Amino acid sequence: MSGACEAAADTTDWDSSAATERRSDPSLLQSKSLVLNRSFLPIHVTSVRRACVMLYAGLARAVDEEYQTFDFAGWCSKSDATPCEQLGLIGRSMPVPRVITLLFYDRVPRRHVRFTRHNVYSRDRDTCQYCGKRFPRHQLNLDHVIPRSRGGASSWENVVCSCHACNRRKGGYTPEESGIRLLRRPVRPAWTPFMNEAVRQARYREWHPFLSFEGEVLIS
Ligand SMILES: [Zn+2]
Repeated sequence: MSGACEAAADTTDWDSSAATERRSDPSLLQSKSLVLNRSFLPIHVTSVRRACVMLYAGLARAVDEEYQTFDFAGWCSKSDATPCEQLGLIGRSMPVPRVITLLFYDRVPRRHVRFTRHNVYSRDRDTCQYCGKRFPRHQLNLDHVIPRSRGGASSWENVVCSCHACNRRKGGYTPEESGIRLLRRPVRPAWTPFMNEAVRQARYREWHPFLSFEGEVLIS
């Protein structure tokens, strides 16, 4: 997300405290909106509050289920036709903008994913690739499938997320030697960690059309 957009969103005079929830969950402003670039590629997940700020400031337009885009006034005028998930503003209301598109942001999401501990955990969804259990990150470590002592590379294709117990059981051996089954062959992720996170958080049906890539639908 561009710093310019963040800064502009922070300096707008839209008073989010004026937005109170009318017929909705009190945490609605803290719930999530999907942010698209001008080409409708997903680039970010933000709070509904910030999405409203950007919409009000003219930095973004709300996107509806028919891929139509709306400025702030236009979006507010949709509220009568949309009975659920309304944000109540002073004197008006508007549907929650679950998807917004930035008007001044052309960059495409970065495709290359850096090989880091954090990103391996994200790729493997914090799940030990030997026992299949999910752990908090401080209870995980990285395991070389082919041990380094055997020439195994520190690469996307040879490093997986492992719990401490499985890591100890496997020791300096290959999965075959130690009798531990590797759940799946590790590969370089096709998506950035952001997309993994977005897909994982994709609890809103409004997001689904935008979280697919080259015909592959990532969520069902
Ligand atoms: Zn394990």
